Amino acid sequence: MNNKYDIIVAGGGFAGVCAAISASRMGKRVCLVEKHNCLGGAASMSLVLPFMYYWTHNDKGERINLSQGVFEEIVNELRALGGTLPNWQECFNEEILKVVLNRMVIESGATLLFQCHITEVFCQEGKIEKIKINHVGGSDFLYADYFIDATGDGNLCALGGFEFMLGRESDGLCQPMTLSFRLANVDTKLFNREHNRINEIYRKYKQEGKITNPRENILSFNTTHDGIVHFNTTRVVKLNPCDIEDLTKAEIIAREQAYEIFCFLKENAQGCKNATLLSTGMQIGVRESRRILGEHILTGEEIVSCTKFYDSIATCNYDIDIHNPSGEGTSHHYFKDGEYYTVPYRCIVPKGSKNVLVAGRCISATHEAQASFRIMPACAAIGQGAGVAAAILHENFLTPMEIDIQQLKNAMKEQNAKIE
Ligand SMILES: Cc1cc2nc3c(=O)[nH]c(=O)nc-3n(C[C@H](O)[C@H](O)[C@H](O)COP(=O)(O)OP(=O)(O)OC[C@H]3O[C@@H](n4cnc5c(N)ncnc54)[C@H](O)[C@@H]3O)c2cc1C
Repeated sequence: MNNKYDIIVAGGGFAGVCAAISASRMGKRVCLVEKHNCLGGAASMSLVLPFMYYWTHNDKGERINLSQGVFEEIVNELRALGGTLPNWQECFNEEILKVVLNRMVIESGATLLFQCHITEVFCQEGKIEKIKINHVGGSDFLYADYFIDATGDGNLCALGGFEFMLGRESDGLCQPMTLSFRLANVDTKLFNREHNRINEIYRKYKQEGKITNPRENILSFNTTHDGIVHFNTTRVVKLNPCDIEDLTKAEIIAREQAYEIFCFLKENAQGCKNATLLSTGMQIGVRESRRILGEHILTGEEIVSCTKFYDSIATCNYDIDIHNPSGEGTSHHYFKDGEYYTVPYRCIVPKGSKNVLVAGRCISATHEAQASFRIMPACAAIGQGAGVAAAILHENFLTPMEIDIQQLKNAMKEQNAKIE
């Protein structure tokens, strides 16, 4: 096994995939290390869909995508292989997604390592020297000049001793975890029509104590398959996604909730009369966990006021979508059409880092700000920023804060990223 690279990317979700592709296209020897058997992260492992909205409109009413670059290429490839709903490109088939992502990473020239769990990080004074991976053959050490933490949970940085934040400022609680599930044999037209009525019954059941799920309503999405409906509606609150005992509890509670809702729907929804419980995510979906403390902490106030940072690497305007960390309810702050904010490069630089960047949902931000950019299109854009930055750092033997921001922005524009 080759164990020396220019850049190692930890984690193959949207952030890691886009980081690996963009750095590799800049001529770097990149290794993407993923603990599961496929790419896509939450989309593949936790059955998360659709791509939440990532566009705005200009003065002429034209749609402008805020996540372009590698993310748009992924969507175009998905579309070309029939992996999206024809009239709704945001809804995708995760099996086709896995094929598309494998192909794109391999075509970029990056090395892929599946079923490799990063378990140790050897880091001194902000510089990672090597990581240990555990796999079917035992274990190995991998070396690189630069590392990108795209593990969603900020695993690489946490193992390396970098500081992180967890949960909301008031009580340390993270957004709830959700085990997504799918029902098959659903009469989808009928089910869509009766959705409001079903939610009324659901609320009544809740008041009567017949439903244990804390979520206020049933949230479902159509899929690319006839008769199959996707449910993002279980809710596990007040547990820590970075504590293995809590995580185990969460998986058990959420599975009971999924079964409870399945039974409720079979009993009450005409469209689900013949439904079967088809599948659940391979692991519970984690909306929020560690947020690595960086050179800048992106805040709710900054994004609400649509701040445009000089060192922007990504643009976003998804709503501040906070599923109540302690029970019922979901709060929102929607951006008006035309409004957006940018994500600064300093948020992907862990404090004190000499050769590490972070990408995706675990970058440096408050609970509120993270609730907006945590969507897949924005994580992809941030990942691309990290990949381009790491390639530039490697080219010039720099530490992350020594980067020439203009050079970074130019290189990102060359890769069609939307940074302003
Ligand atoms: C229930 C739920 C619903 C959501 N709904 C939507 C939605 O509708 N639309 C939307 O756009 N977004 C949605 N999101 C948000 C979005 O899915 C995630 O925030 C986003 O996918 C995160 O991407 P990422 O690349 O940062 O991390 P992830 O997708 O979590 O990828 C991290 C990868 O790192 C790997 N990894 C972790 N640790 C290690 C290790 N030690 N060694 C090796 N590999 C490791 C993991 O296996 C994983 O593949 C939802 C999230 C949840 C949980």
